[in-house]
Parts: sequence; C-alpha cells; structure tokens
Amino acid sequence: MKQSSLFSKTRKDVSAESDSINHRLLVKGGFISQLMSGVYTYLPLGLRVLKKIENIIREEMEKIGGQEILMPALHPKENWEVTGRWDTMDDLYKFKSHYTKIELALGPTHEEVVVPLAKQFIHSYKDLPKNLYQIQVKFRDEMRAKSGVLRGREFLMKDLYSFNATEKDLDDYYDAMINVYNNIYKRAGIGSKTYLTFASGGSFSKYSHEFQTETPAGEDIIYLCSKCKIAVNKEIIEEQKNCPKCGNEELKEVKAIEVGNIFKLKTKFSDAFNLTFTDKAGKEHLVQMGCYGIGISRLLGTIVEINHDENGIIWPKEVAPFDIHLLSLSADEKSNKIYETLKNAGFDVLLDDRDETAGTKFKDADLIGIPIRLIISQKLERTGNIEVKERLESESLIINEKDLISHLKRP
Ligand code: ATP
Ligand code: MG
Repeated sequence: MKQSSLFSKTRKDVSAESDSINHRLLVKGGFISQLMSGVYTYLPLGLRVLKKIENIIREEMEKIGGQEILMPALHPKENWEVTGRWDTMDDLYKFKSHYTKIELALGPTHEEVVVPLAKQFIHSYKDLPKNLYQIQVKFRDEMRAKSGVLRGREFLMKDLYSFNATEKDLDDYYDAMINVYNNIYKRAGIGSKTYLTFASGGSFSKYSHEFQTETPAGEDIIYLCSKCKIAVNKEIIEEQKNCPKCGNEELKEVKAIEVGNIFKLKTKFSDAFNLTFTDKAGKEHLVQMGCYGIGISRLLGTIVEINHDENGIIWPKEVAPFDIHLLSLSADEKSNKIYETLKNAGFDVLLDDRDETAGTKFKDADLIGIPIRLIISQKLERTGNIEVKERLESESLIINEKDLISHLKRP
C-alpha cells in the first residue's frame, strides 16, 4: 500500500485525550480513533493488526478442534432470565424495542445463546465432544472505561465453549487449551511476560485460570513465582499463599493485564437450560462445559504496552500491519520498482511515497513500528545499495539490491 493514499495520517499531539501508552501510540500512529470513552474505530492500520491477531487465534483454535460460528450480539431478555443474570450482571446493556416493547440485551458473553443453540444439535453421546468459538464484538457497561483499548465498552473477543460427556474429557480439553493459549501469546509477541495465573473457580471448580501479562500498565495485581513462571491472582492470594506448583512462598507482587480467562463451567449452564445427552445405555446426563475467552482488542493494546520505546511502537513480526516499510527519499522511480519486486516476493509493504522530509518519514516509521525499514535514497540509487534497518536494532545494514530478497527471506 502507498502511504500517500492511506486514509489515516500520523497525529502530533494527543496527550490531552490519552490516559495510557497504548492509546497515545495507537492514536498518534493512525491505528485507532476514539468515538467516545471505551469505544474506538479501527483504522486501516489498526484493523490489519487486529486481523493478524484473529488469524493466529483462528489457526490455534482449529488445531484444538474449534469450529467457528457467529452468534448475534442482540439477545432476548428471556434467555438471560433463565440463568438469573438479567438482574445480577451490572455491566449488561439492556433496552426496550421502541416498536415491539420487547426487552433486549447486548451480549457481554454468550453462554445464554450458545447453550440453547447446542440443545438443537447435541442429543446423544455420539454428538460429543463439540467445541464452538466465535470472534465477535462484546458490549459491557464498564463503570470506568479506561487505559485505551485495554478496557472498552465495546470490544472484540474470542470466546470458545466446549461440550463434553464427562468431567475427565473436560479436564483434558482444558489442559490442552492452556498450551494453545501459551502458543497464541508467544506468537503475538507477549509470551515472555504472560503467565498462567490461578484464579477463583466460582462455586463449581477449585480454580479458574487467567493469562496475565506483566506490565506497569496493568490494572490487576498478581503474585508471581519466578521459578515456575506461574502466578496467583489477588482474589485468591489469601487462601493460596504459595506457588500452586512448587510451593515457593516468595511470590513477587506485580501489575498485570488479564489477556485471557479459561473456566470450567461444568454443568452450571447445561443445568440452567437442561442441555443433556443420552449415553450408550440410554441414560440421560448433563453436558460438561468449559468457556475460554481472549480479549482480542485488549491483546492488541497489551502488545503495544509491552513492545514500544520512546519513539513509538515495535510490532512483533506476526502481528505487524506490514512486513516492510519502504521509505522513498526523493527516489520514487527506484522505490516503485523495489516496491513491486517485494510485493511479488510475497511481502506486505507500506511504501512511504509522501512528499515529506526524510526526518518526518523516519519519525513516522518509528512511530508506526513496522519491523523492517528499507531506505531508498538518490545516493543508493547510484550504487544499487539499500539501507535496511530493523525497528528493534539501532544500527542499519547496507544490502545490495540483488541480495535484498534473499536477505529478507533468511530465517
Ligand atoms: P476484567 O476482570 O478485566 O473485567 P473479566 O473477568 O470481566 O475481565 P472475562 O469475562 O473473562 O473478563 O472476558 C474474557 C476476556 O475478555 C478477558 O480475559 C479480557 O481479556 C477481555 N475483556 C474483558 N472485559 C474487557 C473490556 N471491557 N475491554 C476489553 N477486553 C475485555
Ligand atoms: Mg469485567
């Protein structure tokens, strides 16, 4: 894509509207735009990142038997009355249809929809296991929407619901999901700071698990075992004072962002909607359920909190909006040629062909944070040499044009 035609532009001063690093850098870089507190538009650059994250999640969910569906955001009141959550969930957006006077909610989570849905198709042990997931906008009337995209009132979530015949099958699936989640965070570039965290299991299980990313930007407090790289959350630290794995009592208190949460629901919701199956002997049982969430837009914000410097964002390779930022310094013909060559070689390239000074182009490239920057100048045009700089490195390399593709494709 050519930067001269990009819809968004980098912005200079956004300090007045920003309360966090992710908000400031994402707005300045032209990734997002705020409509109101906790509600954002994803601009072309931001949406590219969001899609890359979604794709990682999709690949990993498919590996573990997930089947993608898309459920409605608009829910009838009666489903929420079945579980009692119409009255108990404070952040549920509720309203009445002007014409039909029917009461509705905007989905903050989807147990109330997915369980009645499963009832249509799950009847026998032969219909199990099943794992349904979606990537969808969620609505929550958060008391305080803050910290940029970390806490929105409208945000993107992946939620998977598992349906098993036995508790043992649920346990096995749940354990496999922990590995899958770790892989997602690793691929998204926050693996080294993201910890499996023991949390309260509610009335049905001893524990649930959160995935918490350590950063001063975090709203949560966790207690980290530096040896095992697992943590205990604040909610249960009074009952669980040592590391649940090795017993270590010297846990470190750190701030963190909850980037995911997995929960064994067991029969809580299948009981509410009477979701049952018959076993081989014809006996009826409640289905065992689990739910597994990842805040995709929160994950995007967390990536920025973890990967930036004073000049801007440093996107991890797999989630970067483009692979290569090609800066043309008054060498448009040459740059266009290299732009085409790179695209043909399979790279996603942003070509800065704007009529701006070299200084502005460098500054914006640092802010936008694409992993590899190529600089094509008049001087290099004569010699056939191209300056290659990785966003993470302070030094650049000079590579001859004929070696460029093999250099970029090296592992
Ligand atoms: P929190 O304690 O931060 O409010 P939660 O326990 O309400 O989170 P879940 O209901 O488990 O969150 O939702 C699953 C995931 O969705 C969370 O792990 C988080 O990553 C994300 N999430 C939850 N609320 C928001 C929000 N308001 N904005 C963005 N992401 C969110
Ligand atoms: Mg919440």
